[in-house]
Amino acid sequence: LGKNKVAAATASPQGILRDITLPWDDTAPAMQARLSANENPYGPSESVRKAVADAVGFGNRYGHEDAARLIDMIAEKEGVTRDYIMLGPGSTDLLEKTAISLFLKGGNIVSADPSYMSMMNTTRAIGGTWKPVPLTADYAHDLDAMAAAVDSETRLIYVCNPNNPLGSITSAAALKQFCSTVSAKVPVFIDEAYLEFLPDPAANTMVGLVAQGKDVIVARTFSKIHSMAGLRIGYIVAQPERIKSLNSIVRGTMGLCVTSLSGAIASMQDKAFQENSRKLNLECREYLCNELKTLGYPYIPSLTNFVIFPIKSDAQAFQGKLREGGVSVRMFEIDEKPWCRVSMGTMPEMELFTNVLKKITV
Ligand code: PMP
Repeated sequence: LGKNKVAAATASPQGILRDITLPWDDTAPAMQARLSANENPYGPSESVRKAVADAVGFGNRYGHEDAARLIDMIAEKEGVTRDYIMLGPGSTDLLEKTAISLFLKGGNIVSADPSYMSMMNTTRAIGGTWKPVPLTADYAHDLDAMAAAVDSETRLIYVCNPNNPLGSITSAAALKQFCSTVSAKVPVFIDEAYLEFLPDPAANTMVGLVAQGKDVIVARTFSKIHSMAGLRIGYIVAQPERIKSLNSIVRGTMGLCVTSLSGAIASMQDKAFQENSRKLNLECREYLCNELKTLGYPYIPSLTNFVIFPIKSDAQAFQGKLREGGVSVRMFEIDEKPWCRVSMGTMPEMELFTNVLKKITV
């Protein structure tokens, strides 16, 4: 991948990234460490659990009031008014809805390759096309090449920062400059699902550009640092006209569950939980990276809650051995070579992972 400038010439419309994980069996009882979906293993926090339990008692009503409260809290945190915010059952849902709103009549989406494929998959499924742009040799978005890829048919640019599945970041200063200029021509969608794992999230978010009136859409999720993946809640911050048009194709806050809304309200106030998750995540990542180094796996430096590294052997045999040891991971093929992406679990889970890894000889 380091030589992925080569991929620039050869990237197919399907891109160089493929998910080659064996069929999902994370619910199998033998799986002791679930390290395949970049979840946060420490929560939900006590305050979220209590709020969710309390909210069940109000489950006979729609969650409009909680949704309004949560939107106001998010608006205050992000420095905008409530008409800039839209909630969804997970940010994936908002990625998909945005794609549906823009690509039903065709057009293309420009994004990096490799990157998180949800939006590009939806785009292609409804008749749009994807223009993949290889990353730079140091795994950042190639912003000049992305700007150059925009044509009269481009309806959206998608940037995942930090980028999944690599864990790498693109410089905030460069990205701000890029968004400021290119958004005059075409909207830019910034997926910040892993932002809060960075040492300085405030310096890396693009949300300030939305407040400045730029046509930038920023997505965040409660699935990662808040440890609420199963509760399904996320949001976007975007220009009010975009929020209005998205709300016209979906049923506003009707699709949201009172338990998730109440949990998110509690979680936003629980700064200590987020801080602790960030700290534990860093400890586990440092431990894992040291082990990978000792074992001779050249991982990509990560600032997130996952690390990806190339493997030398057959991907399915490798994954099978991890599964036999009670560990699930995600396997990718990048440029036709196999890679393993492992999420940060608890320290005992990371120790289990490295112990099983040490025994793999396939
Ligand atoms: N964006 C990225 C980059 C992700 O990795 C994920 C989770 N895998 C999501 C968005 C979606 O998260 P959710 O739908 O749980 O909010």
